[in-house]
Amino acid sequence: MDLKDVRVTVAGLGVSGVPAAKVLHGLGARVTVVNATAGDKQRAEAAELEALGVSVRLGDGDTLPEGTELVVTTPGWKPSSPLFTAAAAAGVEIWGDVELAWRLRKPGAAPWLAVTGTNGKTTTTRMLAAILAAAGLRTAAVGNIGVSLLDVVLGDEEYDVLAVELSSYQLHWAPSIRPHSAAVLNLAPDHLDWHGSMAAYAADKGRIYHGNQVACVYNTADPETERLVREADVEEGCRAIGFTLQAPRPSEFGVVDGILVDRAFVEDRANNAQELAETGDVTPPAPHNIANALAAAALARAYGVPPGAVREGLRAFTPDAHRIAEVATVDGVTYVDDSKATNTHAAEASLAAYPSIVWLAGGLAKGAEFDELAARAAGRLRAAVLFGADRALIREALARHAPQVPVTELERTDTGAMPAAVAIAQDLARPGDTVLLAPACASMDMFTNYNQRGEMFADAVRELVRASAGTA
Ligand code: ADP
Repeated sequence: MDLKDVRVTVAGLGVSGVPAAKVLHGLGARVTVVNATAGDKQRAEAAELEALGVSVRLGDGDTLPEGTELVVTTPGWKPSSPLFTAAAAAGVEIWGDVELAWRLRKPGAAPWLAVTGTNGKTTTTRMLAAILAAAGLRTAAVGNIGVSLLDVVLGDEEYDVLAVELSSYQLHWAPSIRPHSAAVLNLAPDHLDWHGSMAAYAADKGRIYHGNQVACVYNTADPETERLVREADVEEGCRAIGFTLQAPRPSEFGVVDGILVDRAFVEDRANNAQELAETGDVTPPAPHNIANALAAAALARAYGVPPGAVREGLRAFTPDAHRIAEVATVDGVTYVDDSKATNTHAAEASLAAYPSIVWLAGGLAKGAEFDELAARAAGRLRAAVLFGADRALIREALARHAPQVPVTELERTDTGAMPAAVAIAQDLARPGDTVLLAPACASMDMFTNYNQRGEMFADAVRELVRASAGTA
């Protein structure tokens, strides 16, 4: 597609807006970037773009620049923003970075195997890339995972197939993408302030199935994901493929006696199931992560990857940091960093993976409720240590559903609360227990991000290791 001389308005500066503006400018578009705020950072970014010949308008994010023919938006902008209302009224299309990348693909470019869901996206996308690589395919994990699709699509490196992680924001503004096959891993309330409602959030996730050619992969334990497949507009012959932690029915991937099994893409007709790998090949082998592995395997098999590569890829896979990472075992107590559990659905998955837990939680709740989580985790909690702005919400939910669980609350809201929480947890834990950081909340009230929160936890645990070695 040709964007030469097209008047494009980019909504927002920052880590997405600045590169998008540069790419569009490089393609010959006449670019104006608009940004509501005008602080020092924005002025510096504006100066950098203006030096290239891009126009920047600071201090007004609402008015559509005269003559705009296309809007390219960044994730921070809500769909209800006045700029988009104005664009829609003027019949101007609005694209996100993923739509732009899709439109700019070269002829014959690598097809996309796409992954979304409330939780498990990054893990599943990396597992998928590992499996594709094990099959000898030229591939990369791209998209919401921190590798810009635009860079990949416009770059010189050639790929056979891409493992693409997509967020609900990206999907909202990607009306015409058509992945080869796609998976929605699960759906739980998250980011509802942006999407407006659960229905709108689910509908945005469901766009990933649009135009799929071979397989729409869904979670049999999550009927909403199956409904999205039924409602999707797919290519003829595209199949609905479920994944389940139980024994699979035909057209499903599942688990039989500790073996991951494919009953969807079985070449050998005499055999109605294909063994892929053992649950022990998956790190960590927690139930939610086996589900991620099944989804990755389903997408890879849809692309034609042989069973042996599934096993090899899963064995080669290592999780990203702060996702159920075992930091150390001290005095028989294992310390696990799941700082990436930033919502209740994610925390529930890791709490389900251990039998006896001292739970470290709290932070910014983002409008979440904790009753279900407290009720489900009740039988596994030895104690809870709570910190952060919305800790009272968790304390109250525990009081309602798990009144027997002792709760310690930290008043302090500086980062020093983390080593303090770890020290309290050490006192409360008994040999065989897990001290689990799975905050069920965002981190920004106390930390820069979930990485810093996880690092502070791991540092505090390493201090315990040193202290325990010193006394041994
Ligand atoms: P995302 O990219 O969707 O944020 P990640 O793979 O980074 O997902 O995992 C984020 C957190 O979600 C993990 O730390 C873990 O607690 C939890 N998680 C991972 N997979 C699942 C799943 N399938 N279901 C529920 N929670 C999950």
